[in-house]
Amino acid sequence: MECGCDMYLDQPELYDEQIRRAAKPYLCVECREVIQKGESHLYSSCLFDGLWSHWRTCKACKRIGNDLCGGCWEVGGLWSAIGMSPRFPLDEQSAG
Ligand SMILES: [Zn+2]
Ligand SMILES: [Zn+2]
Repeated sequence: MECGCDMYLDQPELYDEQIRRAAKPYLCVECREVIQKGESHLYSSCLFDGLWSHWRTCKACKRIGNDLCGGCWEVGGLWSAIGMSPRFPLDEQSAG
């Protein structure tokens, strides 16, 4: 594993992931880039201590997280977990 994730975090009581299409622009929780209206992205929900949290992750961050981190990063901490800054030079050509 390339990443530096803390594997001993408390696990949420419930966790759900959906691929959604953005009804309006959103910010990716990881790279803080805009998820454009109409763009598909990962919508995550988690129940923790009786409270639901929701966040949105762009496709680039999801793919990079799965490739470099194995999907184990803490929300909002992907880029620090893999020790990189949020830039996706590879993503420009393959969009769509
Ligand atoms: Zn992102
Ligand atoms: Zn990780």
